Amino acid sequence: MPDTLLAAERPAQSESSILDAIIIGAGISGMYLLYRLRQLGMRTRVFEAGGDVGGTWYWNRYPGARFDSESWTYGYSFSKELLQEWDWKEHFSPQPDTLEYLNLVADKFDLRRDIRFDNTVTAAQWNDSANHWTVTLESGEQASATFLFTAVGILSAHTLPRIPGVESFRGPAYHPARWPHIPVDFTGKRVGVIGTGATAIQAIPEIAKQAAHLTVFQRRPNWAAPLHNARIDKAEMAGIKTRYDEIYARCRETPSWFIHSADPRKTLDVPPEEREAFWEKLYAEPGFGIWMGNFRDILIDEAANAAVTEFIARKIRQRVTDPKVADKLIPKDHGFGTRRVPLESGYFEAYNRDNVQLVDLNETPIDCITPDGVKTSERDYAFDIMVYATGFDGVTGAFDRIDIRGPGGVRLRDIWADGPRTYLGWQPEGFPNLLMVLGPHTARGNIPRAVEHGVECLAGLLEFMRRHDYRRVETRADSVAEWTDIVIKASEPLLASKIDSWQTGVNRNVEGRNVRRVLGYNGNGVHYRRKCDEVAANGYQEFAFR
Ligand code: NAP
Repeated sequence: MPDTLLAAERPAQSESSILDAIIIGAGISGMYLLYRLRQLGMRTRVFEAGGDVGGTWYWNRYPGARFDSESWTYGYSFSKELLQEWDWKEHFSPQPDTLEYLNLVADKFDLRRDIRFDNTVTAAQWNDSANHWTVTLESGEQASATFLFTAVGILSAHTLPRIPGVESFRGPAYHPARWPHIPVDFTGKRVGVIGTGATAIQAIPEIAKQAAHLTVFQRRPNWAAPLHNARIDKAEMAGIKTRYDEIYARCRETPSWFIHSADPRKTLDVPPEEREAFWEKLYAEPGFGIWMGNFRDILIDEAANAAVTEFIARKIRQRVTDPKVADKLIPKDHGFGTRRVPLESGYFEAYNRDNVQLVDLNETPIDCITPDGVKTSERDYAFDIMVYATGFDGVTGAFDRIDIRGPGGVRLRDIWADGPRTYLGWQPEGFPNLLMVLGPHTARGNIPRAVEHGVECLAGLLEFMRRHDYRRVETRADSVAEWTDIVIKASEPLLASKIDSWQTGVNRNVEGRNVRRVLGYNGNGVHYRRKCDEVAANGYQEFAFR
């Protein structure tokens, strides 16, 4: 058995110049993948656009950025030593602590020696006769490897608002996903924020505390619920450390790999007072319970959804002093939970402050951005700082930004124009030796849990290839058709599939992104695990090897 997958037959380029694997991205996925590929003896290089490890947590340094899954379910579980070494300080870790954690991981496993930072991959080309991928970097440099792994995350292709004049603003303007490393001082400043998604909902209360005046431009409001973060003291952390096996086992058993899972009852089967008490309890609890631990039909049944939506709307009215502002903050075009629910810490109360103003863009749309600020149909607003919290070209956006070409020069972007086609989200159809962590059509939910699962699945596939001395893997067309069908059918019952959001592939700031697509496997994560296990146990018959 060869040492590495590539021990023999490296044509054209010299033995040493062709790597076994190239990974794009050194975030949570790329870091763990590198660790695993090293264990398989693969000579691997990671190219990372950022200046250090961390991906999402490297880039998103905006005020208020933190987890909304429980910290102790979010870390890597692959190393018991690491689990014991690291103390989470808060139940929902703030970005600086998370980045510190990821740096510890990079140091502990000496990951950086195989990572090239500040290297953006712009293109990747498959060479069919030589059986390798060649990637091109922004600098024009190239590197080749038998396997190309994407570890680009699902929310890394940030998008600026498509508003005339967006480049003309004179003062500093930031997208949260490209936040400066030196914290922005809002003291005494007039600040304009465009967007009211999960990012803005975290940032707004923090900016409001500092700014002289904050104006929030809202196109569509989002449902949000309280995070209820709290510190973790030493004793509590010691207790968590004794329960890690149990915690991760629990995550493996829930549909979205969080600790929360739905209540087995149907909403309207429960008497109104009991329902109300249940929702009050969930609303007062930390984390995603109100979304994922709710009655089992709230995300699929219109009437059930309407009932919980009415409860959450009432909460907003209770928390926002001005009824007109409260009304503007209540979504009318989608029910609770049908877009990704932001968890907030004082978001609604921020609008009770004298220095915060909400501008409803449905009443007064933005005409343009000017050198001084924003011009709406009603008036001009002058700002010292602008924040464009306008989101991401989700899931496929990061792939589209790389010119990925398979056999015959076929472009991945074109093949996926109407929606991704993959097998299990591991590999796109028609692209040999291109493997994906968190690719489209995988199960996602709690991201690090999905990352570890995805990496383990790919490592299993590579081990299988090594045992059989295979050097090329491709999906079978009928398997892709079957999986794509399963993914689409799994989304159909969800009310969310009828709503525009990054999760359904809609982003009006990107040309052509106005048609809904299914981007993830939205079925039960437990079923997804089972399916992946079966594929492995049956010898990966859904793939063709050479
Ligand atoms: P987002 O949810 O897509 O929100 C973008 C916001 O910008 C929306 O309110 C959108 O309005 C608005 N917008 C976009 N273009 C606009 C324009 N041209 N004019 C006016 N408004 C415009 O993006 P996000 O807030 O960055 O969150 C994305 C995802 O990142 C979240 O859903 C979540 O999965 C993840 N996230 C996670 C955390 C966490 O774990 N704690 C924190 C932040 C984000 P419309 O709704 O009308 O399009």
